[in-house]
Amino acid sequence: MTLRRQSMNLQSVRDYSEVPFTRNQHLVKSSRRIAEILAKKQARMGTNAVSSVDKRDVYFFRKKTFGRVCSCAMGTSSPSKNCRICYGKGFVGGYEKYGTWTEVIDYTLPEIEFVNVEPAHDLNVVPTLFRLKSGAKKGVIKATLRLRKNAGYCDAFQIVDSTENGNSVEVLVREVGTTSWIEATTQNMTTLMHSEQLEFKVTLARRSASFETPYFSHIMLRYGLLPYDKLTLPVDIPRNTEGISMLDAGWDESFGSLSVFMDNRVHTIQNDDMLFFPEKNRWVEVTEVQPFHAVDTVLSFDVTCQFVQKYHSVYNVPV
Ligand SMILES: [Zn+2]
Repeated sequence: MTLRRQSMNLQSVRDYSEVPFTRNQHLVKSSRRIAEILAKKQARMGTNAVSSVDKRDVYFFRKKTFGRVCSCAMGTSSPSKNCRICYGKGFVGGYEKYGTWTEVIDYTLPEIEFVNVEPAHDLNVVPTLFRLKSGAKKGVIKATLRLRKNAGYCDAFQIVDSTENGNSVEVLVREVGTTSWIEATTQNMTTLMHSEQLEFKVTLARRSASFETPYFSHIMLRYGLLPYDKLTLPVDIPRNTEGISMLDAGWDESFGSLSVFMDNRVHTIQNDDMLFFPEKNRWVEVTEVQPFHAVDTVLSFDVTCQFVQKYHSVYNVPV
């Protein structure tokens, strides 16, 4: 088994991010205001006023610019673009989804404890993976997360590991102070969202000490701070742009851009933030932002986005 920097394939990604999508009602008032701004802008440019806009719902993902430095970015000036923990952003988690909170249990978590397990630094793989110590057939990683006041549901849950030949990584969870462990799944996580603190137990096991696997990368837990039907934001897209047909047709080979107008529910938007269109299953990345101010207040944003290609690592961010 040859392992090269950044090329490790974590084949067993258990992705529990599939959750039912509830449509959010658009704010008619804000859409009208945005249409007016658009019309004025178009008038200034000496073109025909826009007659209509297309309304869509998006999930908004803010690029992280602070927090724990990802293990892929330690001792180097550039984080790994293929990193499954930070997606090349350099901070653990990579993004914060609007209305939610993300926690990651990985090598960089200060309070992480492990027995018969070690970080596999000599592999030269990023992010840093855990593996069983030489000669050990079983080992344990333990970590505790303190939960914020939340809306009572798990929005996404991922365990990223690598196993083969019947070797295993088992993840159990319990509320701190209780006795019985349960399997960590999205559903079970939701039942525990009332807890103040959650304790995770990751058990790595192999049939023979001669096997190289299992490897454990990380656990990602995202839970709702806002009610589930408040997670989407309305955006308006001018109908006379090419981008909207790309959005609808899903031309993945295209490198086109899309203009959207957002109201001021998010206070800032910056380059590299991401939008996800759940109806179209399409990611776009922000490349340009023009805020509209009135006195000291931002009223809305004129945002230019680039379609994200499937081979781009951020395509793997759990929706
Ligand atoms: Zn990283």
